[in-house]
Amino acid sequence: MDIQKIAKNFASRGFLFNYFETVEEANEYIASLIPENATVGFGGSVTVKEMNLTDALNGRTLLHRDLVKDVEPAILMDKMHYADWYVSSANALCVTGDIVNIDGRGNRVGEIVNGPKNILIVCGVNKITEDIASGIERTRNVASPPNCVRLNKKTPCAVTGKCSYCNSPDTICRATVILHHPTTGKQVHIVLVNKKLGY
Ligand code: SF4
Repeated sequence: MDIQKIAKNFASRGFLFNYFETVEEANEYIASLIPENATVGFGGSVTVKEMNLTDALNGRTLLHRDLVKDVEPAILMDKMHYADWYVSSANALCVTGDIVNIDGRGNRVGEIVNGPKNILIVCGVNKITEDIASGIERTRNVASPPNCVRLNKKTPCAVTGKCSYCNSPDTICRATVILHHPTTGKQVHIVLVNKKLGY
């Protein structure tokens, strides 16, 4: 993996890219990046959980569905739309400088494209793919099957571990969004960690 090439390609697209060897270093950087008075929304992310990132951001107003139990999910999603920051992982970070995400409800990809001004994408090196085609392949055959199991979805991949491009009512593959650049007016930070994180 050529980190310098990855960093250069994401920077050339206008992304604010940082690489860390450990989760601890990454969390320290993220805590220095996001102000203590910020409101922060979160997409459902195994990576965020594995990093204990919400603990690292203790003190901010954290709009995470595991932490905010007394607000209806739809209202919580609305609040995230108007937060100062939105934090998510990605399904693939392409060496070419593109970010690939697949979504069922569309809230995560929607916020990354047209949500808060400040977006943070956190990923382990297992999410790196060569290009967009292999990134999409990764979303279907690496990321989505275990996510279907985790979310208790009745899809073929939850049984076989492979995508059959299903039309299941439970499919979580309803929208594939490729970010080539931060959308207009947004700052998109990418934090890549030298560790396997999430799916
Ligand atoms: S399209 Fe269907 S089978 Fe393929 S990964 Fe998505 S949910 Fe699974």
